[in-house]
Amino acid sequence: MAHNISEKMYGLTQRNSAVRAMFEEGKRLAALYGPGNVHDFSIGNPNFPAPPQVNEAIADIVRSEPSTFVHGYMSNAGYEDVRGAIADRLNRRFGTDFGFSHIIMTAGAAGGLNVILKTLLNPGDEVAVIAPYFLEYGSYIANYDGVTVVVPPNPPDFRPDPAAVGRALTPKTKALILNSPNNPTGAVYSEKTLKGIAAALEEKAAEFGRPIYMISDEPYRELAYDGAEVPWLTSCYRNTIVCYSWSKSLSLPGERIGYIAVSPEADESALILEAAVIANRVLGFVNAPSLIQRVVMRCLDESADLSAYDHNRRLLYDGLKDAGFECTYPEGAFYLWVKTPCDDQRFCEMAKKHNILVVPGSAFACPGYIRIAYCVDPGTITAALPAFRRLAEDLEPVYTARNAV
Ligand code: PLP
Repeated sequence: MAHNISEKMYGLTQRNSAVRAMFEEGKRLAALYGPGNVHDFSIGNPNFPAPPQVNEAIADIVRSEPSTFVHGYMSNAGYEDVRGAIADRLNRRFGTDFGFSHIIMTAGAAGGLNVILKTLLNPGDEVAVIAPYFLEYGSYIANYDGVTVVVPPNPPDFRPDPAAVGRALTPKTKALILNSPNNPTGAVYSEKTLKGIAAALEEKAAEFGRPIYMISDEPYRELAYDGAEVPWLTSCYRNTIVCYSWSKSLSLPGERIGYIAVSPEADESALILEAAVIANRVLGFVNAPSLIQRVVMRCLDESADLSAYDHNRRLLYDGLKDAGFECTYPEGAFYLWVKTPCDDQRFCEMAKKHNILVVPGSAFACPGYIRIAYCVDPGTITAALPAFRRLAEDLEPVYTARNAV
């Protein structure tokens, strides 16, 4: 059918995000049955408030700093003092050597990823991603006419297999996107895994005679449980670019605030930084939102209430294991990844009959699983567990038939 919008955007209208679709379905069901009767685990929108220091900082900044400064344009890379404070904190925390010039403030991790992909990609360049993965990566890569190459999933723990990563790299590979703690599996990649991946990248980069950049997408860096360490990637691999965000760590997803950190040792780091600042501008972000830049500078040592997420994690994991579901033990982020005994879309349809909304694994290029976002009120989990148990009963014949094969 004839249409006037671009082919690329038309394509996107035809495959609307499954996460968003479930979110809309949640609103529809809530209107029908009442919000208390819908168990909506579809979207990673933190349900815990930002720490009080955030609102205190907003109030103080608005009161004490000149309005034309707080609400004005600044350098496209962001405020120098904010970038300097971030660099200092990284250096204290990870023993790195960042200066303010290695940091660019961005509109969240999504803004950062777009800026860096625009900076790096020529049409036809390949970007490797590891399944299951945040499906927006595919759209971001396509924005710059790049090609997404998928590394197959590595069950049961979903930590990537370095050899499989190596096999996905070709002379056209410009970058690999990594995401740990991971959406959707909750996996945290160990230093051993990351060093293995770094070695695979080094080997292929030497073979092809060009660098392969590691883009570390880190909105969940602060959300790791049981004392799990989230290694800092520029220390494992020289050609690393980090895309950080406060969307989850300070519960500020609507404020659109994050940064890019380019390793000072990366090949052409100065040129990458110069180009990324221009990309921030020409993509139309111009600069990251001003007021919230000043706020995060005052809240660098704050974090969302990790114990609340941890409580939810245990409640949900134990409850679903008890009900007979096969779950990947979540070490980080706020997602539970569950194996389905049948087609994952069918599972989601069956779950919907119990007013449970979850996202099919196919929405993350990994069918046969579903994702449950537990960044919800704990009462939502408690209320949902009986519904999950009824769903398990519905699924009993499917399990029995599968086990009989
Ligand atoms: N990357 C991953 C893996 C995510 O899960 C999300 C958001 O859910 C983003 C990036 C985008 O985060 P932001 O809100 O910082 O743009």
